[in-house]
Amino acid sequence: MITLHELTIKKIHSLLLQKEISAFDLTKEFFDYIETKDKEINAYRLLLKDEALRQANEIDKKIAASENISFLAGVPLAIKDNILIRNYLTTAGSKMLAHYRAAYDAMIIQSLKKAGAIFLGKTNLDEFAMGSSSENSAFEKPKNPLDLSRVPGGTSGGSAAAVASHQAVAALGSDTGGSVRQPASFCGLVGLKPTYGAVSRFGLIAMSSSLDQIGPIAKNVEDAAYILEIIAGKDSRDETSENFQFQARSIYERKDLRGIKIGLVKEIETSSFEKDLALSYQKSLTCLQQLGATIEEISIPHISLSLPCYYVLMPAEVSSNLARFDGLRYSPSEKAGSLKDVYFETRGEYFGPETKRRIILGTFVLSSGYYDAYYLKARLVQALIKKEFEEAFQKVDLLVWPTTPTPAFKFGEKTEDPLAMYLSDIFTVPANIAGVPAVSVPIYGEEPLPYGLQFIAYHFQEAKMLNAAYLFEQISNYGKFL
Ligand code: GLN
Repeated sequence: MITLHELTIKKIHSLLLQKEISAFDLTKEFFDYIETKDKEINAYRLLLKDEALRQANEIDKKIAASENISFLAGVPLAIKDNILIRNYLTTAGSKMLAHYRAAYDAMIIQSLKKAGAIFLGKTNLDEFAMGSSSENSAFEKPKNPLDLSRVPGGTSGGSAAAVASHQAVAALGSDTGGSVRQPASFCGLVGLKPTYGAVSRFGLIAMSSSLDQIGPIAKNVEDAAYILEIIAGKDSRDETSENFQFQARSIYERKDLRGIKIGLVKEIETSSFEKDLALSYQKSLTCLQQLGATIEEISIPHISLSLPCYYVLMPAEVSSNLARFDGLRYSPSEKAGSLKDVYFETRGEYFGPETKRRIILGTFVLSSGYYDAYYLKARLVQALIKKEFEEAFQKVDLLVWPTTPTPAFKFGEKTEDPLAMYLSDIFTVPANIAGVPAVSVPIYGEEPLPYGLQFIAYHFQEAKMLNAAYLFEQISNYGKFL
């Protein structure tokens, strides 16, 4: 009998090598569990049982033949349903793509397949990855396994819910404004958004192409690092990807944080934090000091403009990226008189309200007469924020601040007020606007629900960032401070 909740990537690897389990039995065990558990969680949109068991068999053959296997071989993962796996449905949480079958594998899927990872299924998300709670899904709404009356966060809510309920060892998500880190934080997990360009976006259904990044959600920093090692790197099919090599073992390089300067951004006012967040944050800073880090206050003067800037740039790109869903390709097509009517009817019928809101907003900020006032201005503000981050990283090695202002909220709490929903991204969006990497690790106050602590680093300094996050995780007993 395998205890699913104790499994990590490292553990699975050693169990497989010692022949204590087979990849096939492990995979089967996961599906048996998912069959009952997911009725209450709704993490998965689609299960890939036959394919997964076939993949697992291949790994077992390799082990039996004493072939070398990678760290991820036989590791059961969940994949957000906006990442293409060839031949399988990929809905992006939208009725528009309810019947769309992917014609090719995303770059990360190719890399993970090569490494021998096993895909259990595709996970639920907000439609086209827009939202902060997964409630914008046109299909099942995943629940937070820590409290079923609460959202798992969004938009990679299904991915986080799958891992937190032990229905997968780790998962892949996408993060445009926080969609990996925020659900990880709401579900007590680690969520990593790599530097923009560290991971190829080929085969990720585009939301806001200049901000989108794929990243792992895992039970600990080590597992997130193992996944990053496999998925990072240059891909000629994504011209924004960079030749970035990441070694998971780099997270063990330093044994403490002596000589490391950590910046606290003074514009992020701790006086506004909820009591329990303030408590867990304070304990986190004490741990960092115990590790030998020096903590200093620094300024990123325009950081508070990140959110308004994001909600101009992102919808502009959304309106352009989603133009391809026109009723002629990919999607079902409404019968109508003229071509224009087909567009109107199809888009009217198959896009949900939040998607429509953003397309309208994006079209507005790009339209003649408003382009200069909104879109162009937002790009200038983004350049300014990027420069200020750059200056900050000349003074300090890392920045830290919380991942979200509140723990997981209740279903329906923010659905009537889009602005309240947008404001929940206030601490995650700056890293996307600046293009820098960020990782969220769980921290707890006195209440049972977790918060997240973010470590933010300069471009492509994932090694330093994850090394610090790993040390923090150890000294803080996974954020429980016991
Ligand atoms: N919550 C943010 C939004 O609604 C982030 C989405 C994302 O990262 N995909 O846009």
